[in-house]
Order: sequence, then structure tokens, then C-alpha cells
Amino acid sequence: VDDDSSRHHVVFRSKLPDLPNIPNHIPLHTYCFENLPRFSEKPCLVVGPTGTTYSFSQTYILSRKIAAGLYTLGISKGDVIMLLLQNCAEFALTFMAASMIGAVTTAANPFYTAGEIFKQFKCSNSKMIITQSQYVEKLRDHGKHNPKMGPVITIDEPPEECLHFSVLSGTTDETNIPYVTIDPDDPVALPFSSGTTGLPKGVILTHKSLITSVAQQVDGENPNLYLKQEDVVLCVLPLFHIYSLNSVLLCSMRAGASVVLMPKFEIRSLLELIQRYRVTVAAVVPPMVLSLAKNPMVGSYDLSSIRVVLSGAAPLGKELEDGLRRRVPQAIFGQGYGMTEAGPVLSMSAAFAKQPLPTKSGSCGSVVRNAELKVIDPDTHSSLGYNQPGEICIRGPQIMKGYLNDAQSTAATIDEHGWLHTGDIGYVDDDDEVFIVDRAKELIKFKGFQVPPAELEGLLVNHPCIADAAVVPQKDDAAGEVPIAFVVLLTGKEITQEAVKDYIAKQVVFYKKLHKVYFVSSIPKSPSGKILRKDLKAKLAFI
Ligand code: ATP
Ligand code: MG
Repeated sequence: VDDDSSRHHVVFRSKLPDLPNIPNHIPLHTYCFENLPRFSEKPCLVVGPTGTTYSFSQTYILSRKIAAGLYTLGISKGDVIMLLLQNCAEFALTFMAASMIGAVTTAANPFYTAGEIFKQFKCSNSKMIITQSQYVEKLRDHGKHNPKMGPVITIDEPPEECLHFSVLSGTTDETNIPYVTIDPDDPVALPFSSGTTGLPKGVILTHKSLITSVAQQVDGENPNLYLKQEDVVLCVLPLFHIYSLNSVLLCSMRAGASVVLMPKFEIRSLLELIQRYRVTVAAVVPPMVLSLAKNPMVGSYDLSSIRVVLSGAAPLGKELEDGLRRRVPQAIFGQGYGMTEAGPVLSMSAAFAKQPLPTKSGSCGSVVRNAELKVIDPDTHSSLGYNQPGEICIRGPQIMKGYLNDAQSTAATIDEHGWLHTGDIGYVDDDDEVFIVDRAKELIKFKGFQVPPAELEGLLVNHPCIADAAVVPQKDDAAGEVPIAFVVLLTGKEITQEAVKDYIAKQVVFYKKLHKVYFVSSIPKSPSGKILRKDLKAKLAFI
């Protein structure tokens, strides 16, 4: 029974024992570098394409220099700096440096338009941009109307009026770091959500939230995500998204594993790097699983070093999961379920634990340790038991402090009892495994029956002729909404619309049948691997 109210609550907990204590009273950088003496000469950051390597002690010293450099350039406690970078060592170093002086990092997708970048820049009240010379031009055009842009620093040859990164890293005296007291509730990161359902939202993550989340994954005697010092962890997911920043970079630093940084996803170079660096842990998103499962190129690379594949950030069909298992049979495969606002990890496969537990295909693991998860009826808000789908809610010290400058949305997301409402529909099965059905907002309503697009997409991509697919609702007079599909065919394959419809109809209840199929050349996706259904819905309006 919960203390919230007189109502009975079913609270789900991790299958692994709680950590006796999480050191979330210290600053994030102190926590991440805490175990450094144990592995100081081991590689920490490895730049994939060049092989340039920074040991843990070099990473620490460089971060301190950059911290001093940021301070010299006028950045002080509470200030926000913006990173507009592909994955690179400077990203990781600057993030740690900012933490050291109590500053906050917000990172944006460098492929954003200038308008999108400036929206985030202004909204976060950033004081400085650190970027690559190739993005400066678009900033400049827009920047003319934004005189208060602050210094622009590039990690490569700086264009006119920009500074080179060495103004930060070249400091000779890394002890010139101001003494700052950092409160556990001070912000350290300002990630923006993926913008799958609307505009991306600024999310305040504190030192306490991130330490708690990292600890929930990799700390303790039986870590949920067991990373060893010998592990080589692939960092291909963009660090501007919290999944990669937290579960790849921060978790590896804490655990003493090496991180191989890859600037962007491209299947051939990914396979090449896995082979070259003998990657042992690969954090991926469903579109990468799709490539790894279906691309014939995969067969010609040696992927035998991989022992763990973690997929997260978007739904992954069982069939695709099985396809991947066939490609890397020696690896443990599992999912994590995250949401920027949740710090971000809510649940993680217990198959990754030091003492692994059996898990089921399609599951997102069990709720992380030292946290509480409940499933509520979206209408009545009463808490539901095992196997009953409803809205997933999470509570614990890892969740966000709130949305940036948006008390109203914060209050609508975190209730008065501290529960974060995810907007995702899912259930917990008899073995305490979490299954995500789909986002509440994405469910298609056929005459009141709910159709989860993710389920139909999972079936579609399992077809031998289909490379990729997305399902969206189309307005319908009789049914309200009907599911229709956008389908990408594999090169050289042919299939008719009717055959695709029949293929689905044979596998689902009548109300989940597809009403139309459109063949397209690609499915729009976010860098965090999500289908941008809003783009497809907009496209539908023109068909
Ligand atoms: P926005 O909130 O801006 O519309 P977003 O919700 O896509 O975008 P993120 O915070 O990156 O932004 O993503 C969180 C969401 O991703 C979750 O709420 C959930 O819908 C989805 N998700 C994450 N992991 C999984 C998973 N393993 N299976 C299914 N869905 C997942
Ligand atoms: Mg969201």
C-alpha cells in the first residue's frame, strides 16, 4: 500500500536487490571519475575513425583544463553552454568540464536548421556554442539577427570570428578552476526530448538525477548493466541524445570501460569499427537492429567480439529481435526503456546483469533498482496489476527536476506524489518484465478498438520483401480511424499492396487489418531511432 492516498497501489520493483546507497550527494564529475585510480592508464575515449585515444587520466586532466578554460572565458556556475557536435572526444571532455565548474550543457543535433538550433539556444539561455566549422555558416546567417550569440568555438580550423577549441583545452594551468559548491539538485544537463510528438522539450537533469540513473545501471555487487574494464563500448548513437550520453558515455566512465566514438551511423563503417576495435558492447536503436538483421553486408564482417547488444529508445518487434540474434548468436540481446524526462532509464534487461536472469523476447527488462514503477488506468488513474496494460509511471531520485521554463507541463507530467507519467502504454508480466505496447498518443482507434502501430510495424518488417515500414491512422467516416501503412521494399523485391494487406490480415484480429499500403523509398526517423509519424501523417494529407 502506497502513501499517496487511501487507494491501493501496485508498485513494481526491480528483480535485482536495491543498492544499499547511491552517492548522489556528490557532483556528477566526481562520481564518474571516482574509480579512476583503478584504471587511470586504460583507454577511456577512442576516436573511431582516427584511433586517437585518451586514457582515463588524460581524460580527467583535459577535462580540468577545459573547465579552467571555460571559466577564463567567463562561464560560471549555473551558466549553460551549447554543444553542436557529432560524437567526438571534445563532446565528452567539455561535458565533464562544464560539470566541474557547476555549468550546464545543452546539446543539439548539428543537422538541425539554424532556426531549430537558435530556438534551443535561446530557450536554454546558452552563453557559448562549441561546434564544427561546417556548421558555422548556417549559424552565421541566422546569427545576424541574434547579436547576443556569445563566442563560437570550433573543434577544427576556426572560420573567421570564431575561436579554436585550444582556447579552452590549451590552458597551462588546470588548477585555475574556481571553487564551487554544487548542490545535488543543481542542473548539469539540459537535454531536449526527441520531438517525436511535437516540439522537443527542454529537460532539467541534475547531478543527483544522472548519478542515480548511472548507479541504477552499473553500480553495486550485481549491476543491472554489467560493464567490465575490458569492455569496449560502441558510441554510435548521438551524444546529444540522453540515451548515449548516459548509458554509453557516463556508464562506461564510471565502470572503467573504453568508449569508441563514431561520428555518425553508416552501416559499413559501423561494421568496420566493430571489427577493428573488437567492440564488446553495442548500444543501438531499432533502425540499426533493422540494418544489422537485414543487410547482407553484415555477413562479411567479424562480429564475434560482441557480447552484449542493448536496444532502446523505440519499440522493437520480436521478429526483428530474433533476426538480430541470428546475426550475433554469441551475444546477449536485451532492451532498455528510456525517456529523457526519466533520467532516462526506466527499465533494463536483467540479462545484462552480472548474475543474469532469464528474459523474454520483446521485453524491455525490469524496472531499474531503487525506483518504483506503476501502471495506471489512463481514465480512472487507478493502479493496475500484473498483465494489465495502462500508462506507465515511474518514481525515484533519477527523474528530471522539471521541464525548462514550463511549470505547467512539469505539473502535468510529474504529479504531486512524485510520479512521472510517461504517456506510454505498457504492462508488467508475471515475471516482472516490462512490455511497452505503444505511446498512448500513437494508438490508432478503430471504432473504439485500439491498434498499436508498433505491433503492425513489427510484423511488416518481418516480411522477406520488406525493408522498413510505418503505420499511421487515416481518418475514416465509419470507423473514426483506420490503420494504413507506408512500406519500403528491399531492393530487387516486389509485392503488391493486396499481398501486404493479406499478409497482415492473416496474423491479426479484424480491427488491426491494414486498409491501405503506400510504397515509399524511406521512412522518416529521428536520430534517436524513432519513426516520425507526424511527418507521415502530414504526407498523408497530400496523397
Ligand atoms: P517528444 O517527447 O519530444 O515527443 P520522444 O518522447 O520521442 O519525443 P525521448 O525522450 O527521446 O523523446 O523518447 C522517449 C520515448 O521513447 C518513450 O516515452 C517511449 O515512447 C519511447 N521508447 C523508449 N524506449 C523504448 C523501448 N525500448 N520500447 C518502446 N518504446 C520506447
Ligand atoms: Mg516524450
